[in-house]
Amino acid sequence: MTKQMMVGCVPIGGGAPVTIQSMTNTNTAEVEATVMQIRRLQSAGCEIVRVAVPDKASAFAIGTIRERIDIPLVADIHFDYKLALESIAAGADKVRLNPGNIGGEDRVKVVAAACRTKGIPIRIGVNGGSLEKQILAKYGGVTPEGLVESALGHVALLNRFDFDDIIISLKSSNVPITMAAYRLMSERTHYPLHLGVTEAGTMKMGTLKSAVGIGGLLALGIGDTFRVTLTADPVEEVYVARDILKAAGLRREGPELIACPTCGRTKIDLIPLAQEVERRLETVNKPITVAVMGCAVNGPGEAAAADVGIAGGDGVGLLFSRGEIIKRVPQEALVEELFALIDALP
Ligand code: SF4
Repeated sequence: MTKQMMVGCVPIGGGAPVTIQSMTNTNTAEVEATVMQIRRLQSAGCEIVRVAVPDKASAFAIGTIRERIDIPLVADIHFDYKLALESIAAGADKVRLNPGNIGGEDRVKVVAAACRTKGIPIRIGVNGGSLEKQILAKYGGVTPEGLVESALGHVALLNRFDFDDIIISLKSSNVPITMAAYRLMSERTHYPLHLGVTEAGTMKMGTLKSAVGIGGLLALGIGDTFRVTLTADPVEEVYVARDILKAAGLRREGPELIACPTCGRTKIDLIPLAQEVERRLETVNKPITVAVMGCAVNGPGEAAAADVGIAGGDGVGLLFSRGEIIKRVPQEALVEELFALIDALP
């Protein structure tokens, strides 16, 4: 079990539910635009949000932003320890930085002291793209061992100043390397792990890489919090994150759609049917599993675990629940009948 720590009012690690994070892409110093985006992220399901702090104006903005939002705020710092100190003073709930990159032990000591005084954790965010030269040389490139060694070096620096509220991330754009790094780290530390695959890409490939990398680790019981990175509106990252949690069996919110892959027995135009059901399920909040199956012979049995479902037939389809056929319905009325059944569920 990892150590538990608080980011604002949200616990991370120690068996707390795995949390969804995201990061804004507005100019942090533009408070109004940043707050609006954070609110959109929160309504999509984001539980902790990070903002980039590239300059003083952004660090000062943290205080105002913090007052206007309801989820914990993380300051993302690169290299400049003064920006870390200003963000902490302004009210950041956590900082993300790499202690080895802020220019000397005195500075690490000051930042660690400021975080300790405020009771906020530090996330060490090691990234394959910015691994130290000597580690790259030692391992001949970005490797799981190299990522872990780099992170443990930063941890040791913080530990030297008696700081232990540490969260670790080990991101790389290569999924197998990322997964191996997190697995190795989970064997070596008790610190909570923030999962992510960096530069994952656009919607389709980014979603897949994150689902495999993050979802795979979560299914193994590794990871305490995570961010999906997509080259897209950050709200999309949150939707994908929610689906990863569902697919990994870690959260049950809203309906889950299962649909058969179709085969030579398919008796219905299944793809538009599944898409229509998926679209209409967006407004349903019940924690149910809904199946859309291609044939009446095998469909109800194959989807026996579904709470409700429909299966295609020659002109007449079936409405079923937990594998039991409820009634036969003309094909054109299948979706309406399905949603009438869903509405009637508790
Ligand atoms: Fe094929 Fe029927 Fe199974 Fe769909 S439910 S994959 S159509 S056998």
